[in-house]
Amino acid sequence: MVNLFVPKETGTGETRVAVTPESAKAFIKGGMTVSVERGAGESAFMPDSEYTAAGAAIVDRASGFAAADIVAAVGAPPAADVARMRAGSILIAMRATASPNITTFSMERIPRTTKAQTMDALSSQASIAGYRAALIAATELPRYFPLLMTAAGTIKPAKVVVMGAGVAGLQALATARRLGAVVEVSDIRPAVKEQVHSLGGRFIDLPMQESGEGAGGYAKEVSADFLRQQREIVTRHIAAADVVITTAQVPGKKAPVLVTREMVEGMRPGSIIIDLAVDSGGNCELSKPGETSHNGVRILGVSNLAATMSHDASLLYARNIQALVFEFVEKGELKLNMDNEIIRETVVKGNA
Ligand code: NAD
Repeated sequence: MVNLFVPKETGTGETRVAVTPESAKAFIKGGMTVSVERGAGESAFMPDSEYTAAGAAIVDRASGFAAADIVAAVGAPPAADVARMRAGSILIAMRATASPNITTFSMERIPRTTKAQTMDALSSQASIAGYRAALIAATELPRYFPLLMTAAGTIKPAKVVVMGAGVAGLQALATARRLGAVVEVSDIRPAVKEQVHSLGGRFIDLPMQESGEGAGGYAKEVSADFLRQQREIVTRHIAAADVVITTAQVPGKKAPVLVTREMVEGMRPGSIIIDLAVDSGGNCELSKPGETSHNGVRILGVSNLAATMSHDASLLYARNIQALVFEFVEKGELKLNMDNEIIRETVVKGNA
């Protein structure tokens, strides 16, 4: 029987867990055994008792790693733990790197195909980040989001500009709209214009002689000249904005700078920029991890927002992991088939 182990996360600020009582139950139903490190689900509000009720065993960390056929984690576990894993066992985590004698799956390598959608952890977690970014903006802004007609007069709705209409940007748009803000969106892939409109946003048209559509639905890097033209166009939208949420990324590259120092200086004091791309260099020239302030404009460089919503982030991530595991576990047995595109693409090549 395949034994799957779930360690407690060790990353700073990490609150998620890779297997929930719900997914543990599904693995056991699928003919596997599940062992969980004591307290692994605590910060996601999933106590050991719920795992036990689902049929899982609670174990200590060292024996969990040593006895596992599969280790499922959120962040890549420390090397000392991976070194305990048996030859031929499998590690699944975000941004995991190859290790000798084991097979490593890195969740951000899941292909962006229809078939692999249920396993797409980048999407499930980015969507949470977009939602939280809009909520943080709404609570931190010294203004209302919706249009309000009060006895004391009318309040104009807040104006939000979202840069990048990927998974996070579209969810930020949808959330800010639900709260009543007016939302404008910029992206270099013309294909997203329709999605922006269907969520009630306004699309900021760019000179599209150069499309930023790359492989797999991702953006490709555009020229410096294109970025300069884009900045000219979005400058006046940003100057009128109360909130700017930036989510623009290009896989494998530094994030494009879309909001320059001059653009920040053109914004009103009290406005807020939330930069979700801060870990890949930031979309705002002035953003740093944490909070910065420039001429009264607050710039929040936020990382790992999904971990601020530990319960549902874990629930979705665990479903992504579950779908991947059932791609190579059949009737409780490991069947790693490298002809399977999802498996081939997600396994980390290297010194394994
Ligand atoms: P991402 O995080 O890599 O980038 C976010 C957004 O930034 C993208 O929309 C990108 O076009 C945009 N961007 C890049 N440079 C920019 C610039 N200079 N100005 C403005 N915007 C810029 O993207 P993501 O959210 O991971 O996903 C990208 C797309 O992949 C999705 O929108 C979708 O089309 C596709 N996707 C497909 C599947 C699937 O089919 N299973 C799943 C998820 C995503």
